[in-house]
Amino acid sequence: MPPTPLVGPFDGASARLRPAEPGRLAVDDLLLGAVGAGWVEPGTVAGDTATVRVSTSGITSPDAVAEVLDAITSQVRAAGIARLLLETDDEDRDRYAARTGGTLDVTLVPALRVTNSLGRRVQRVVTRDAGAVGLYSCGPTVYSYQHLGNMRPYVFADSLKRTLQWRGMHVQHVINITDVGHLLKDADQGEDKVEEASRAEGRSVEEITRHYTQTYWDDLRSLNVMFPDHWPKATEYVPRMVDFAAVLQDRGFAYPLPAGLYFDTARQPGYGELAGLDFDGMLEGARVDPVEGKHHKTDFALWRTFTDGRERLMQWESPWGLGAPGWHLECSVMSMSLLGDHFDIHTGGIDHRELHHVNEIAQSEAYLSDGRPWVRYWMHNEFLNFGGAKMAKSAGGILRLADLVALGVHPLAYRMLLLQSHYGSQLAFTEQLALNAHVALKRLAARISEALGAAAGGDGLREPVTLAEALDEAAVLGSSELADRLLALDAAMVDDLHTERLLAVLSDWSRAPSSLPVAEWEVLVRAVNTLTGLDLGRLRPADFVPPLPPDIDVAWVEDRLAERESARAVKDWALADRMRDELATRRIRLEDTPSGTHWYVTGEG
Ligand code: AMP
Ligand code: ZN
Repeated sequence: MPPTPLVGPFDGASARLRPAEPGRLAVDDLLLGAVGAGWVEPGTVAGDTATVRVSTSGITSPDAVAEVLDAITSQVRAAGIARLLLETDDEDRDRYAARTGGTLDVTLVPALRVTNSLGRRVQRVVTRDAGAVGLYSCGPTVYSYQHLGNMRPYVFADSLKRTLQWRGMHVQHVINITDVGHLLKDADQGEDKVEEASRAEGRSVEEITRHYTQTYWDDLRSLNVMFPDHWPKATEYVPRMVDFAAVLQDRGFAYPLPAGLYFDTARQPGYGELAGLDFDGMLEGARVDPVEGKHHKTDFALWRTFTDGRERLMQWESPWGLGAPGWHLECSVMSMSLLGDHFDIHTGGIDHRELHHVNEIAQSEAYLSDGRPWVRYWMHNEFLNFGGAKMAKSAGGILRLADLVALGVHPLAYRMLLLQSHYGSQLAFTEQLALNAHVALKRLAARISEALGAAAGGDGLREPVTLAEALDEAAVLGSSELADRLLALDAAMVDDLHTERLLAVLSDWSRAPSSLPVAEWEVLVRAVNTLTGLDLGRLRPADFVPPLPPDIDVAWVEDRLAERESARAVKDWALADRMRDELATRRIRLEDTPSGTHWYVTGEG
């Protein structure tokens, strides 16, 4: 449904709202003559609830702020709307709170704030176009299985995307598939990871990339990661990469060497800002690729020319000779091709903050040369560590999602494990942690299903919902308790995606299933699933039963269970207990719950 504009231009004594950038009204402070000191988005409606985003923290006159608020509320009221969610700057909440009484039911909600690596600050997310977000996540290099650490960036980006959608934003998401150009050790010279794998496994490049892309996608599906709108493959964008590099050379930002076309980092005054190092620091600290003729240590390859005469599996013609694109170039070209020259948020693992993203920014801003930052928000997830170091293929100690599943861990328990930490903290992984998360998810799922009663298992529980829609339902149900809980979920997520806080409050509520009527639990669980992707209310005890070893005969176990059920029906507890012990000697553990007896197989007898 296209957004219904609610708030339009307004001319007051101390403030004016006038149409400005796409989809926003600029606020002028007439008392101080401050033009464009704030902005208002025209607002959207869900049921009887409107959402309006406003920023007035740059306006000093209290009268002007008051008038902006009055302009908004009177227009919303005139549209016949009963409730207003007003998303404000945090600094401004008190100024609004003091004046939100009256006939319109106004709820102040904090704006989404995230840690922006650019400037290392927690900042309000203000998108280029009102209500829309362009999001790019650096994708996997498909030369091998993705390990558990590699999954963290996509679960993190998924939490971000879910939160944006929960706040009614339309998200365009792109994750690329790096099927060429990523060299061993992230270097500029040497072997391509995909080619190397093709040789080592004796399979064609296409077989390798298809296989590892498929298993990556399978893992994302198991983790309930929503698929992006686009999955560009680097090999499909090579002609555009050549054009992009040629533009940089024409503008004097790149110079050719026998080894390829190199980007001249000294031409970019802000080079390295993202990494938090000054240019000189970068020069000293930079990884040194021994390339003959490079002007500066930090200069990097836009194009790698193959000079050794060796036949490559992947190579393309270019003005700089037969070769292949540089890894950094790929992401700039794919993101701009699909999201436009400028977009809102770029995500990736923290290792990319220091090199890959620094170089993406340098070449993109040189290419655009429009004096504006290429992308405003850069977000990075910290590492998943294993055995004291970053989980990495090169370090040897890696585990895949499939390894956890073989241990009997539900894939969504791994998602839960990731959500139990803030994305910006390192996470020390152990198998025990995964097993604990499995038990915790199982318990949480059982409690939520109990709270939902007959409503458990319904398809609607996985229908995404927005904050405005959920609050509207709470109002229809007349429940301020539900509204408070929805706002608590929201507060955890919009404050820099504190998923672990969301899980903590949810765990508390789940211990008191009768604290809300079923109809309210349904709304709450839909909201939780929208934000966490944990499928609560849909997971059943049977989903947590590990895959069966071949020596277990299911029919035999089910027969024993039925016999035991008969014994319990006539209250022959002694027999029921004996049967439970007998099954335990065969590694079959029983669990009697209000919804029946469940069984699972344990590792030891
Ligand atoms: P790569 O295929 O090496 O480009 O890695 C894919 C993504 O996983 C990148 O965003 C990396 O930053 C990220 N990554 C790699 N290892 C880890 C780890 N141990 N923990 C978290 N993220 C990681
Ligand atoms: Zn990238």
